[in-house]
Amino acid sequence: MSSKITITDFKILQKSFAGVLFFDNSSTHNAQKILYSTDASVYQEKPLAVAIPKDVSDLKLLIKFANDYGITLIPRAAGTSLAGQVVGKGIVVDISKYFDKILEINEEEKWVRVQPGVIRDDLNVILRPYGLMFGPETSTSNRAMIGGMIGNNSCGLHSIVWGDTRSNLLEVKALLSNGFETEFRNINKADFFKKAYEQTLEGKLYGQIFKILNNPLIQETIEKNYPKKSLTRRNTGYALDMLSDNELFKQDSNKPFNFCKLLSGSEGTLAFITEAKLNLISLPPKEIALICIHCNSIQDSLQANLVALRYNPMASELVDKYILDFTKGHHLYHQNRFFIEGDPAAILMVEFMAETDEELNKITSLFISDLQKEGIGFAYPVVKGEDTKPAWEVR
Ligand SMILES: Cc1cc2nc3c(=O)[nH]c(=O)nc-3n(C[C@H](O)[C@H](O)[C@H](O)COP(=O)(O)OP(=O)(O)OC[C@H]3O[C@@H](n4cnc5c(N)ncnc54)[C@H](O)[C@@H]3O)c2cc1C
Repeated sequence: MSSKITITDFKILQKSFAGVLFFDNSSTHNAQKILYSTDASVYQEKPLAVAIPKDVSDLKLLIKFANDYGITLIPRAAGTSLAGQVVGKGIVVDISKYFDKILEINEEEKWVRVQPGVIRDDLNVILRPYGLMFGPETSTSNRAMIGGMIGNNSCGLHSIVWGDTRSNLLEVKALLSNGFETEFRNINKADFFKKAYEQTLEGKLYGQIFKILNNPLIQETIEKNYPKKSLTRRNTGYALDMLSDNELFKQDSNKPFNFCKLLSGSEGTLAFITEAKLNLISLPPKEIALICIHCNSIQDSLQANLVALRYNPMASELVDKYILDFTKGHHLYHQNRFFIEGDPAAILMVEFMAETDEELNKITSLFISDLQKEGIGFAYPVVKGEDTKPAWEVR
């Protein structure tokens, strides 16, 4: 426990806190702190306390408490992060229990408003009858939550078509470091400058970000050093390149400024998200085919990818020999190798979707004949429908 803060301080906090706090060294509290000392990464650090807030008032109490005692808050959703994003010595704040409501679905405008503890796959089950879905996915989407997906700017297999979380995040309701509740969304130039003059923490954020991003030297540095914008699957620190890609900083742009671009991927370090408005897409075509291009080398599979991109696939993923060999004789994954022929150095798995099987067969055979003409690959098994799921599991 920090030198300034005592168990009595936590006990006082508990009196007005509607949710649950684990802070002392009793076996129950200690067990909880140990459970919350890691995520899906190798990192481990026992937090000072664990909080399971019931509502926004609880979050505000936590923020005040953290400010009073100079400690940090670590927002936590499902805790499936791979790089210690929810590990730390402050108070781990678990929003998975009570912030799990879907608040509003707008079928016509294709958006949904949710709390951050909503699980991605559960959301899509609810949206299915509307013919809609939230596109960005992760391999952990049956447990990953929207708050965590925003924090990590998550995306997966179909990111080339459905994009990342950032590109599907429309608005956010959040608490700032002083407990002030605010909303971030597209904001036009006039409103941006009005905000920037406000004598509040929010006003300062607009003012300071304008000063920083309007500096030509900084703009040039960002332009030169950030990864290519065409790389969807990336989370390389604060996305200042995305935040500055709008009419305020680019003369040839008519995109509005939106702080959500920065919040997505900020790993819980900037604000505590309490609601998010997400863009939805129509359900994809129902017929699926996975062409598994067996290659003699990694080089070959990269060439295959260039051909694949000409056909606008839904997904294109490399599975190299290291992964393939790992599945050999594996008690779970061995049976998923049903589509593998011989001993390829790599397999490029390319997925297509279409409304009809005929349409799908047409794309598939054109694609395979192109690969053959260019001498890429030695076998091209096509997996369809439900069988694509165990095939993808190999990856
Ligand atoms: C086997 C495996 C496969 C994976 N595959 C993928 C993949 O394909 N693509 C991918 O992108 N990721 C992948 N991941 C990483 C991870 O599962 C995802 O990024 C996931 O979306 C994180 O969601 P979560 O709910 O577990 O978030 P958490 O791990 O709980 O949190 C993630 C970040 O969000 C912040 N956060 C959470 N809630 C809030 C809030 N309310 N306000 C502010 N910040 C908040 C946290 O502080 C943290 O920084 C994988 C992980 C594993 C273990």
